[in-house]
Amino acid sequence: MDQSIVNLAYLAAAILFILDLKWMAHPRTAVRGNRAGAIGMLIAVIATLLSPEWQKYGGDGIGWSYVAIGLAVGAAIGAFAALRVKMTAMPELVGLFNGFGGAASVLVAAAAIVEAVSTDFATIESPGQMKVATVLSALIGSVTLFGSYVAVGKLAEFLAVKWKLYTWQKAIKYGFNAILIASAGYYAFANDFGPWTLLSVACAVTMAVVLVQKKDSFPGGNALKLIAFVGSLVMAVLVVMNAGDSSVIGPENQDMFWALVAVAGLLGVCLTFTIGGADMPVVIALLNSYSGLAAAATGFVINNNVLIISGALVGASGIILTKIMCKAMNRSLANVMFATMGPTADTPDADEVYKSVKSTSADEVAMMLETAERVCIVPGYGMAVAQAQHAVHDLAGLLAEKFGAEVEYAVHPVAGRMPGHMNVLLAEANVPYEELKEMDDANSTMNTVDVCIVVGANDVVNPVARTDPTSPIAGMPIIDVDKARTVIVIKRSLSPGFAGIPNPLFSMDNTLMFFADAKKAFVEIIAAVKEG
Ligand code: NDP
Repeated sequence: MDQSIVNLAYLAAAILFILDLKWMAHPRTAVRGNRAGAIGMLIAVIATLLSPEWQKYGGDGIGWSYVAIGLAVGAAIGAFAALRVKMTAMPELVGLFNGFGGAASVLVAAAAIVEAVSTDFATIESPGQMKVATVLSALIGSVTLFGSYVAVGKLAEFLAVKWKLYTWQKAIKYGFNAILIASAGYYAFANDFGPWTLLSVACAVTMAVVLVQKKDSFPGGNALKLIAFVGSLVMAVLVVMNAGDSSVIGPENQDMFWALVAVAGLLGVCLTFTIGGADMPVVIALLNSYSGLAAAATGFVINNNVLIISGALVGASGIILTKIMCKAMNRSLANVMFATMGPTADTPDADEVYKSVKSTSADEVAMMLETAERVCIVPGYGMAVAQAQHAVHDLAGLLAEKFGAEVEYAVHPVAGRMPGHMNVLLAEANVPYEELKEMDDANSTMNTVDVCIVVGANDVVNPVARTDPTSPIAGMPIIDVDKARTVIVIKRSLSPGFAGIPNPLFSMDNTLMFFADAKKAFVEIIAAVKEG
């Protein structure tokens, strides 16, 4: 295909990506956005495969078979993920996809540098640009790959946790470490233990040691982060300075390049591992942005415009999302990256906080709802776990129909485990978008709410964020459910939320706890309201 037609196809794909981002910003147009993005990607892939640049590689037939294998494996993983992964595991999946993006950038950079060095950069139009782009692609890609593994591990709760792991969790955690150490050992033996090889091995061993820590804050965590940060910048400069000199880097001696990948990997592990659990939403958005930046750098490595554009779009939107998430949690990015959010020595004991908890039943809740004129429902992660959104919507409809109650939903920006998690679930249950209130709007009228039902939310309604400046979540905006006349909290026990700290809301005078699975609780309340 002529290059000008390929460029036109890339332009069409880029327009579709931009429309995708615009449409994805609203639940009503999100599906259309998703389709536009998928079609844009299909156009970009087909145009690349038919481009003169690709024909150079694919002409001998070997290229096509590699592409076919890549497409088949990628499509199988994508289809499996789309069909089988539960809504509650979406953040892990996003983390995994970010990691794949990072891995692809590292591999393309490595392949490009091997090829360039083999021809002594003779076929490269501007070697300087290519070297810088390759190094950036490898550095950011490796940070993204290893950082995403840690993010997935923390979300799936097999990294940085003190409790006992299931067998599958142990298999991933220790299996990953075993592969890391075995590859480093094999690499060292195959490369005669040179200085750069030993640096890579040292990084792999340090990563393995960090990854078995049971807490995200450990002695020397911040110092290690700093060393890895400075180290990866120094390595990046060294590789750019020396690339092309076959005595330092080349097809026979790539040790310095791989040492850069290893140091950057250590940086990714340290950066993500020491970030507190409750800050994970910000980290996922940040890693998303990194994967975009790595892809854009890779676009410069292989001179592919659509990759540069799509990478830049992902990078920019990831940074915007990171900023929004930081604002929602009232924290600076530096604070998120270098201060751990979680229980501290000052965190009060749960037994102390929960001295005066009162529990309730479906019948009692139904009686309260009969007389309530204004009802506010605050969903959280537990609603996603229980898949209670349909039952929640059914109860809201019943209250409006039977008692003429005004029912609204108050949605916290970081409720659940991914940005927009609650909006997606409520949209799936056909809750009209107008009934969803953003945190500030909901808070402004909370004192006029008769009954506020908190369904599987914990951290996002924890008043210590407002009242206790020493609390790890101090300053994080919350939904002020404690200002409603009566608060019903539906959850299975008094166990903490993601931040791991007790919630004094549960023992307040106007709070009643309904201990049950959220879906079961709503089904029982609906039955009681119907009977009443
Ligand atoms: P939390 O994690 O604070 O609390 C969820 C609560 O749901 C738990 O206390 C749990 O209590 C309860 N629960 C779990 N399963 C069920 C069930 N089947 N039925 C009823 N209740 C259940 O959730 P929030 O939504 O309040 O806050 C989100 C937290 O997650 C924040 O700290 C946020 O920073 C963090 N986070 C957010 C992300 C995002 O992008 N939105 C991503 C990653 C983390 P029990 O076990 O007793 O039932």
